[in-house]
Amino acid sequence: MDASTSSPTPASTLLQSQRAFFAGGATRPVAFRRQALQRLRAAVVAHEADLLAALRADLGRPEAEAYASEVGFVLGELDFTLRRLDGWARPRRERTPMLLFPATSWIHPEPYGCTLVIGPWNYPMQLLLVPLVGALAAGNCVVLKPSELAPHTAEAVARIVAQAFDPAHVAVVQGGAEAVTDLLAQRFDYIFYTGGPRVGRIVMGAAARFLTPLTLELGGKSPCIVDASADLGVAARRIAWGKFMNAGQTCVAPDYVLAHQSIRAELVRRIGEVLRGFYGEDPKRSPDYGRIVDAHHFDRLAALLHSGRVACGGTTDRETRYIAPTVLDDVQWDDAVMQDEIFGPILPVLEYETLDEAIAQVRARPKPLALYVFSAERAAQDRVLAELPSGGACVNDTVTHLANPRLPFGGVGDSGLGGYHGRHSFETFSHLRAVVRSGTWFDLAAKYPPYRLPLSVLRKVMAWLG
Ligand code: NAD
Repeated sequence: MDASTSSPTPASTLLQSQRAFFAGGATRPVAFRRQALQRLRAAVVAHEADLLAALRADLGRPEAEAYASEVGFVLGELDFTLRRLDGWARPRRERTPMLLFPATSWIHPEPYGCTLVIGPWNYPMQLLLVPLVGALAAGNCVVLKPSELAPHTAEAVARIVAQAFDPAHVAVVQGGAEAVTDLLAQRFDYIFYTGGPRVGRIVMGAAARFLTPLTLELGGKSPCIVDASADLGVAARRIAWGKFMNAGQTCVAPDYVLAHQSIRAELVRRIGEVLRGFYGEDPKRSPDYGRIVDAHHFDRLAALLHSGRVACGGTTDRETRYIAPTVLDDVQWDDAVMQDEIFGPILPVLEYETLDEAIAQVRARPKPLALYVFSAERAAQDRVLAELPSGGACVNDTVTHLANPRLPFGGVGDSGLGGYHGRHSFETFSHLRAVVRSGTWFDLAAKYPPYRLPLSVLRKVMAWLG
């Protein structure tokens, strides 16, 4: 039986009201969508201080970092979308084969209807509101489910949404696994999930029940290869920045470094030096360094500090959920820290002798969300890109591929399914409907039975006019 026909739950009642809202057609005009995006923009701007305080409370986020990666990031996505939405939403004309004469062919982006966006705790505002921008731009109703592990930000997002929207258009449902289970029992028209692969499988299983299309934004161990030709000063800074922002709790953070044996020791030394420059001698007192989200993740991470040899950092304080930015040297592939995504401020460094060996090691593991290569040699950069699949990649940088809204952001294989940002978000939340409009003043008799055209002629006609 369809869950939506069984006894009403809070989730089914909410969805029913959103279905009615969508069916009424209010979300279809582009003018309505623009107004919705503008209201969201105004509410985010009005709640900026509230959001920054919530991010500090949940994750100890420094203000500049929280603004750049959450509040400012969402405003950037809103502005990018508002400037281009009219063009994206317009039906696009495509060429029509002569065989279909007299017709024209179109792609009509259509909203799916009622969509569900499930977010994680690590960038708890951005990873809910950037998908929301795409869902609204495409003309959908949206249920947002923030992570219960970032409760202050979840509350702030709920206040923003309540200020800007009718709950029949956009609503926030709070809670943990039970809330998600309750929501997934409903028939949504699209599901957008960001989080770990374990829950990703649960979400995909639930979506399969209704054949609901979905996006999965997952994680994994993103490698960072540094060869002997790399500019080690730049590599050390860019690796340390990508790894230790948000205390390493970033889905595209370099998970581990794979360094050529001739430069490994020097790179480790330089990363240590960079970290002292970033956060001082005692990073615990730095206003620019974050904290681990909760005790469970703290304990999980503290246990990983025993892999290899601590080259830098290594200290912890459970009370304040502090783990020093740590570099582990002499790490081996079978060490505990190399088994799962680290998702914290611990950077293992392994060494390789030949690029063949480095590529073979990475290829033997699941496809990562991000891949980084530092090298001065174009041939080496191209080989790594050609031979190692990943969701996204940077050459001589980390993380920045997600900051260009013109590029699709997403994983592949174990790191996810689908992509978003900018126009890619709009298309993710739209069904691209094929429409042929045909004239009636001409109707080719030869296409109807009884078929009289000899096969030898049909072959030629199809080759000419197809
Ligand atoms: P998570 O999978 O634990 O939780 C994500 C969401 O799932 C939360 O809203 C949570 O309430 C819900 N949930 C938890 N247990 C559930 C269950 N049993 N049934 C149904 N729903 C459940 O993920 P997380 O710990 O919040 O995030 C960390 C992971 O997310 C990492 O793997 C990271 O790489 C990944 N991530 C990916 C991206 C990306 O854009 N690809 C971004 C951020 C994080």
